[in-house]
Amino acid sequence: MAITVVGSVAFDTVETPAGRRERCLAGAATYFSLSASFFTDVRVIAVVGEDFGATEQAVFDAHKIDTTGIQHALGKSFFWEGSYLENLNEAKTHNTELNVFAGFEPRIPEAYHDSQFLFLANIDPVLQRRVREAMPNAKLVGGDTMNYWIKDHKPALLEVLKGLDVLLINDTETRMLTVSRSIALAAGKIFEMGPKILVVKHGEYGATAFFAPKRADGAERVAHRAFHVPALPLEEVVDPTGAGDSFAGGFFGYLASQKELTPQSFRYAMFYGSVMGSFVVERFGTERLQQLTREEIDHRFRLFRELTHLD
Ligand code: AMP
Repeated sequence: MAITVVGSVAFDTVETPAGRRERCLAGAATYFSLSASFFTDVRVIAVVGEDFGATEQAVFDAHKIDTTGIQHALGKSFFWEGSYLENLNEAKTHNTELNVFAGFEPRIPEAYHDSQFLFLANIDPVLQRRVREAMPNAKLVGGDTMNYWIKDHKPALLEVLKGLDVLLINDTETRMLTVSRSIALAAGKIFEMGPKILVVKHGEYGATAFFAPKRADGAERVAHRAFHVPALPLEEVVDPTGAGDSFAGGFFGYLASQKELTPQSFRYAMFYGSVMGSFVVERFGTERLQQLTREEIDHRFRLFRELTHLD
């Protein structure tokens, strides 16, 4: 089943202990769609500027990603500059230029309306909400956000959360959003905001999913409804940018490829998310996702099993 994603398609300048790259093709929707494209059909809603040319388009085409929902506007594409010199688990933002995103009015192509899965990748929550409202028939809606929006756009973000089934954010964002002492407490607060599943990404320490209690087991402890997946212990992380979006792409891409959504499929989705995150950080930008094969994904999935299995 197809997934529609809305989010940034951007150029990033990134500095990490492994080096520096100027203006590489990136953006939350780019990482998400490349990652999900290994599992299912992907459709993108975004806006790009005149700096997005045939070379960038070819990256989407090579993965059979439907880009009819990407509008081309006069001006420059979204630009982000960040570094990870002190901490590989958290980006330090130096510059965010919304550029063509500042005047973006999302238009959803007719052919996207039968998408059963919708992912609201990191972008202005006002835009996330508009796309959510325009696609009321999606059966599973996921979303992401970041400190930038939590800090200064919280009311709009809270409106988005009401329409989400799954929220995927990192540890710091979870604490910022809920002002909680522990992520287990935060999960309870987030369930009251709308999502039924919270996936907290811990960077090199993996990710934890929290599932909201059903009415019948409301008294069950949070820990009994959590599921943890590790990250692959890599010798070198070249560039952590996009790990979260690639995790989300693997997670939702896998779910969309399944006939039925069961508790087990969500657990598998956590593993595929972690697998995809482990690839993207091996090279700068989207380089690794651009060269990846399905065989490599399957092989790494088996490696994850060995990493966590007791026999
Ligand atoms: P992550 O998976 O969190 O590392 O996401 C990285 C991507 O998010 C980068 O490629 C950036 O272009 C994009 N990004 C950074 N800041 C923002 C923002 N404020 N809104 C939307 N996208 C952003």
